[in-house]
Amino acid sequence: MGRGHPECPQRLDAINDHLRATGLDVALDMRDAPQVDLRDVELAHSSGYVAELRDLLETVRSTGRPRAIDPDTTAGPATWDAVLRAAGAAVAATDAVIDGEVESAFCAVRPPGHHATRDQAMGFCFFNNVAIAARHALDARGLARVAIVDFDVHHGNGTEDIVAGDDRMLMVSIFQHPLYPYSGAVPKGTNMINVPIPPYTKGPDVRDAIEAMWMPRLEAFRPEMIFVSAGFDAHRDDELGQLGLVEADYAWITRRIKDVADRHAGGRIVSCLEGGYALGALARSVAAHLRVLAHVD
Ligand SMILES: [Zn+2]
Repeated sequence: MGRGHPECPQRLDAINDHLRATGLDVALDMRDAPQVDLRDVELAHSSGYVAELRDLLETVRSTGRPRAIDPDTTAGPATWDAVLRAAGAAVAATDAVIDGEVESAFCAVRPPGHHATRDQAMGFCFFNNVAIAARHALDARGLARVAIVDFDVHHGNGTEDIVAGDDRMLMVSIFQHPLYPYSGAVPKGTNMINVPIPPYTKGPDVRDAIEAMWMPRLEAFRPEMIFVSAGFDAHRDDELGQLGLVEADYAWITRRIKDVADRHAGGRIVSCLEGGYALGALARSVAAHLRVLAHVD
């Protein structure tokens, strides 16, 4: 994204270093991300947008000249490959889980995806990794109902744009409001459970809101699989938001998601990294998330 940008390569280095330092890597089946099949991408994005973005990002790659998509979002020479592999990871993880190779999967990917709408890149996002994977599960793999859970500090406006009105999907989210992208206060469909949270809210109140607003709807929906937009920028150390979550809150949220998955979905969860920009807090929070998913105490 350019020098000094918070959405930086060091985010994934911090996660990998911490997993190794804590020995958690040993409990995980680590796989490389393949490039996505653009037919899967077109389940969530318009074919016009996909073609336009491919042309733009291939030009950036061949000329080596970065291009600003919006004031926050810049494409560099490696962006196209990263975009293909981030979405490819989500789809490959979905297949691995549906095929029973693994119970659940976490995709440590960049760039994030949940701000990318059906036909617009924005807010560090190009392809909506989670929406693509969810549609792949429904349309290519024949599932009937999937839930999307988004706990990034920012509202997942792109996912909402793609998912609203499609009753095969239920999206539950929690986000600071007001904050970029300043949407979400009024949900765009009856299959959206949006929970806006005021700045400076801490873990106990966030947990209460999740318990009251998410859990009854998730239970009633009985998802066959759960996708997670796992952003860790609601952490108290993260400067892109003003919420006060800590590692134990991320473990608790993951546990509640896993409870639903265990009851209705055979434990099937695919979680994809979204935000999280305070490197130490990001790495520790991802580890807390993974300990629950991987049954590591
Ligand atoms: Zn975010």
